[in-house]
Amino acid sequence: MQSKIQVPRGMHDILGNKFISLFDIMKDIALNYGFTYIETPIIESRNLFERPLGPTSDIVEKEMFSLSSKEYVLRPEGTAPVVRAYIENGLFSLPQPQKLFYFGPMLRKERPQKSRFREHHQFGLEILGSESPIYDAFIVNVLWEIFKVLKIEVIFFVNSIGCQDCRKIIKEKIKNYYKPYLNKVCDDCKRRYKVNPLRLLDCKVDVEIAESAPQIIDFLCEQCQEKFEEFLEILDKIEIPYEIKNNIVRGLDYYNNTVFEVFSEKESLALGGGGRYDNLASFFTKRKVPGVGAALGVERILELWNNYKEEKKVIGVVRIGEVNKFFFEVINLLARGGFRIIESFGKENIKQQLEFLNSLNVRYHIFIGEVESKEEQVVFKDFKTGIYEKIHIKNLIKELTKRVK
Ligand SMILES: [Zn+2]
Ligand SMILES: [Zn+2]
Repeated sequence: MQSKIQVPRGMHDILGNKFISLFDIMKDIALNYGFTYIETPIIESRNLFERPLGPTSDIVEKEMFSLSSKEYVLRPEGTAPVVRAYIENGLFSLPQPQKLFYFGPMLRKERPQKSRFREHHQFGLEILGSESPIYDAFIVNVLWEIFKVLKIEVIFFVNSIGCQDCRKIIKEKIKNYYKPYLNKVCDDCKRRYKVNPLRLLDCKVDVEIAESAPQIIDFLCEQCQEKFEEFLEILDKIEIPYEIKNNIVRGLDYYNNTVFEVFSEKESLALGGGGRYDNLASFFTKRKVPGVGAALGVERILELWNNYKEEKKVIGVVRIGEVNKFFFEVINLLARGGFRIIESFGKENIKQQLEFLNSLNVRYHIFIGEVESKEEQVVFKDFKTGIYEKIHIKNLIKELTKRVK
């Protein structure tokens, strides 16, 4: 008996060209804004995540996939690996800041649910080596441009969680506020109260209590306040819509100051988020490496990306008779010329080949036959207009470019 083999729980296959088209759009925008591609391994040391993300963060506490040796885990997020790679490859000796982008799978052992996979893909941007809030806005601006191209309306929810100094005061204020509610809040909150009080604010259960909690930004130190204001002023100037939200705290220890999440306007689905992480590098090096970045959830965005259309010019190719050298010369010309070939060459019968192309509604056909090949010609037919003509391969791409819409 053969046992049934299935994709593992929470994993999924990616089918079709939409995924790679989204990558193309994001990649082109990142490149145009001066980002350089980086790819880090899918397996990293457990230590890379444990302390920087925080031992009480959801990812470290319950979502990491560890390998049998326990020393290594499957990459749960992209920022810590990029900072590790920046230090390990000496990117600090290059002109600063270094702007890096990545696209790849992240693995988290969450309970699988709709649009939440254990393996999901993220597109991420990281800017390392500058403390300036201009770069916080720069990141938000690039995300804004991406969603503009995708025609997905979004809004940014922003907040500042301050520096290590003012956060001490903020945590105390929040704890004081929650103290009288401690027997009412959920178990997670009871635990957060002790280990990670900022996370009380983003509890999905005790929303009402969190809503009246002290506003973090009221207790920022002067320097943190100035940084946040500078960031917001730029967003105002470039007219990117945002709301300040006290419950945007991001779950990870490495963040400081600016944090944000981007939501779709219509469905109010979280599509990504990010923030500043000026102290993340301090876990691996004595060197000071300020940074800011963001990551987008690719699967979520694919779901909302409704205006996706493949723009390629499609040509149906029909084989008449034997395959000779000319036959593949024509095919190569078409592919190099940017046309997408559809065919069923395995069918000997021309009628069957035409039926196949017809079933896919292919409008333009090229017939490659032995007779025409002696004159280095092919037959072109537009099935909509009925136009039927011979074209010399010397002029093939030029002529098709004129005719194929
Ligand atoms: Zn501060
Ligand atoms: Zn709660």
